[in-house]
Amino acid sequence: MDDHDLLRYSRHILLNEFGTEAQQILLDSHALVVGAGGLGAPALMYLASAGLGHITVADGDLVDLTNLQRQIIHRNDAVGVNKAVSAQRAMLAINPGIRVDAMPERLDAAALDRLIGTADVVLDCSDNFVTRHAVNRACAVRRVPLVSGAAIRFDGQITSFDFRLPDSPCYHCLFQDQPDAEEERCAIMGVFAPLVGIIGAMQASEAIRLLAGIGTPLTGRLLMLDARTMAWESVRFKRDPACTVCSAAKNGAAATHLKERHHANA
Ligand SMILES: [Zn+2]
Repeated sequence: MDDHDLLRYSRHILLNEFGTEAQQILLDSHALVVGAGGLGAPALMYLASAGLGHITVADGDLVDLTNLQRQIIHRNDAVGVNKAVSAQRAMLAINPGIRVDAMPERLDAAALDRLIGTADVVLDCSDNFVTRHAVNRACAVRRVPLVSGAAIRFDGQITSFDFRLPDSPCYHCLFQDQPDAEEERCAIMGVFAPLVGIIGAMQASEAIRLLAGIGTPLTGRLLMLDARTMAWESVRFKRDPACTVCSAAKNGAAATHLKERHHANA
């Protein structure tokens, strides 16, 4: 960090829990953010302003007029622009000292696996179950911590999965794959604008605290918010011993380990 960085991040560095060490960890870290919509907007802006040194943002959608009510990273003149590209522009305007990679596409399983293998933390800011489960699977296999948020109508929820820990539960332990589950999308159901701001900002907070080891992350705890009354509910959960994703990740990791040992011996 040069003098300019020390000034830019001085209000973090002043915190006892932070100091220059934690700030340097953030600057040296890579975060993948899947989705640059309502949750991704505040999450990306806080990660950029806080000095997350390398951020990859992926979103295949274009900014639409109906997004501007809550997706505060996108400006009126970004309508029609890809969301990842629009977000990249806004983040570099906030902090030109970081690296931002924009992926203007919906990532398939192979792309997710490859990208997550290079990330230190992943934020799931997507809006559909297929993506949520695919991101979860790749994070579990690659043992990369995942911060998961969701918001619809006036209901929000957030939790973290720290796959660096051996007995971490996963998203699938909490929410099984339901191929015929009704997808509740903002397009049909509506969503309270500041709710996505609350949950998205909390996702950035979780990611930063997981990376820098500050305080106690939301691992094994699901927080649920009813924004009509601002009532929070906290539910504890553990790994489901019958979870297929957890057992596959464990076997996959063991197989990789064996293969690497085999190569080392060869
Ligand atoms: Zn699981």
